[in-house]
This record gives sequence, structure tokens and C-alpha cells, in this order.
Amino acid sequence: LEPDIIFENAKLPDGRKVNIAVAGGRFTAFEETPISGTPSSAREDLLGRLVLPGFIDGHIHLDTSFIGDEWMPHKPCTAGFDVRERVAFQKENMAAAKPMAERANALIEFCLAKGTTSMRSHVNVDATVGLEHFETIVAAREKYRGFIDIELVAFPQNGVVSCPGTEELLDYAIANGCELIGGLDPATIDRNIEKQLDIVFRIAEKHGVDVDIHLHDAGTLGVYQIEQIAHRAIALGMQGHVAVSHAYALGEVPVEMVRRTADLLAKAGVSIMTNAPGAHAFPPVNELAKAGVIVFSGNDNIRDSWWPYGDGDMLGRAMIVGYRSGLYTDETLLLAFDMISGNAAKAMRLDDYGLRVGAKADFVVLNAAHIPEAVASVPHERAVYKEGRHIADSGVILKN
Ligand SMILES: [Zn+2]
Repeated sequence: LEPDIIFENAKLPDGRKVNIAVAGGRFTAFEETPISGTPSSAREDLLGRLVLPGFIDGHIHLDTSFIGDEWMPHKPCTAGFDVRERVAFQKENMAAAKPMAERANALIEFCLAKGTTSMRSHVNVDATVGLEHFETIVAAREKYRGFIDIELVAFPQNGVVSCPGTEELLDYAIANGCELIGGLDPATIDRNIEKQLDIVFRIAEKHGVDVDIHLHDAGTLGVYQIEQIAHRAIALGMQGHVAVSHAYALGEVPVEMVRRTADLLAKAGVSIMTNAPGAHAFPPVNELAKAGVIVFSGNDNIRDSWWPYGDGDMLGRAMIVGYRSGLYTDETLLLAFDMISGNAAKAMRLDDYGLRVGAKADFVVLNAAHIPEAVASVPHERAVYKEGRHIADSGVILKN
């Protein structure tokens, strides 16, 4: 296949200096010697800068952010963190916000300008909001096709068992464009662990889709639910198809319990997503990774009704996870980067990801000696390429 474009003087994460050929939006060669092309092949000199695979945001909410809207002051919970109360605040805020499509488009551009080339977005689907969020975000995904790959999780933010009518809506959303089924704190939201998990896994089995469950539930109650999810993954042969997002509990229980749970998660092929949230406890990612658990990351909430933070930068997110986890060695800084790249691709089963022949030519070019330095220093000057096309530079989308 004749290259459409040849990128010269690239530095790979392993230190090799190479020339890279791209055809039809995919990598076709990485060569230490010059690559010949047709006279019409475009050439671009990367000036010896580091080439990284496109960043993956493994957990975002495209439907509820205020990016693209006015600043919305944060309203604290009356007595400590309360999911139900935050959901109620969100409802008030959403009613006053700009149209969801406008905000979702702005958030997508915000993220891809910084190097995110794939993402997994949760989208609220329940009997209180119906299919409005789902339809809006499916349309936003369509609008940005070819610029960013977006997979959608049907997310029952008001519960499943405790929100009658939600099960049918989830089923519909999965049949009509969501790739995954979500869940939320079966114990504290539905007060019925078995029943929520029965419904979630039944829909997953029926449609052959993966599962990604939000789990904020604390301590041993949270760990118990993580175990139940892992047991179901094993029983249904869904190893590698299930993720638990947040899993705060793993950051709160004694290390022996973490290790025991980590072994089960590894056996069940259940991955764990964390964004290293604010001042909250979160899973010990290095401990989990050592046990063979796939840990990955995402921005989660970006400037929404949950908190005012978030800049959309997954490299910055890797730094935050590493900083809060005490990841100082080169080896563990590589883990932090894996959480926004290779590990996230594994959790999301993105088969055509990475810097290799045959994969989509999604990459980010920046000034750093190697990955550990990129994670620690988070260079803001960077060029973003999607399927070989230069689409953003230093946080700005290139209009062409
Ligand atoms: Zn979330």
C-alpha cells in the first residue's frame, strides 16, 4: 500500500528514531531507514519529537458538563458526599444549562484538542430523563466521527430497581447505539444488590455487550459488590468484558483485603477505572496492576454538577493518578501512562490501537525524552493526529 503520508524523524517510546508511513488512516510502516513513497505522498518532519499513541479517556460524561456554557458554581452536599443529592443538584443545573448538544460538542472538542482520540462516555438513561441524553450524545458522536472514536455506556444514574421503567429504556438504548450497559451502586442506590446486577447482566447477555458499573459504595459493602460483579463475570464467561469504575472501596479497606480482591478481579478479567478523584480514597493502582488487574483511567466529571475541575487532558490525568498514587519510578510512571493508553485499550477492547503496523494512526507528538518524562512534565505543546490527519495543536482544533 503506497503511503498517503510519511512522518519523518519520529522518536518512539522505546527510543528508536524512525520514519512512519500511514495509508488509509492506518500505520503501514515504522522504519529506521528512509521510506520511499510516490511523488504525491505528503511528508512531514516531526523534528525528533516523541510520538505517543493517542490518549484514551476511559470514563467521561459527555451529557452533563458545563464546558461550552457559563461557569456553574459548585453546590456542596448538606451532610457529606451523597450521590442522590448530587443527582438532584444536577437536575436543577441541567434545566438551566445551554442545550446539551452544544455543551457535548464543546466538551468533545475540548478533549480531542489535548490528544484524546478514543473515549468511553457514560450517558444517562433512566425513567427520569428518558432517552433525551442518549439521542443527543449519539448525534454528537456522529458529528465527530473520524475525529474521535466514542463508545457509549447506557448509565442508569437514578438506579434500576428503584426507578421503574429504566430497565426497558436501558434495553432500548443498548439495541439502538450504546455499546455497553452501566450500573450504579446497587446497594445504596437500589438497596438491592442482586436485583440490580441481575438486570444489568441479563441485558449484557441478551445483547452480547460489555458492562461498566459505577461503584462509589464504601468499605466492605463496596468490596462485597466488587466480588459479586467478579463472580458474575466468571459465571457468565465474561472475563475481559466487565469494568468497575471508581471502586472507591479498594482504597479504604486493609491491604490484605485489597490483595484478595485483586486476585479475584484478575481471575475474573474485571478491569478497574479510576480518575484519582479529589480528596477521596481510590484504588491502589500499583497494587492492583501487580496482581494482574487491568487498571485504566478517565476524566470522569469535567466541570459539572459533581465538581468544578477537569481540563480534558488525559496526559494530565495520568500525572494526577501517578502523583496521588506515589508513582515515582520510571516503571510506575509507565503504568500511569498505560492507564490512559494500552491498558485502557485492553479494558475497552480496542483492537486497532497502538503504535504498530495495522493500527489506526492515532498519535500525539510532543517534546519529552520518553514516557516517564511526558507523564511527570505534561507538556502542553503537542500535536494531535487522528487516522494520520493533523487535527489539533496545543489545545486548539485545526479547522481544515
Ligand atoms: Zn462517572
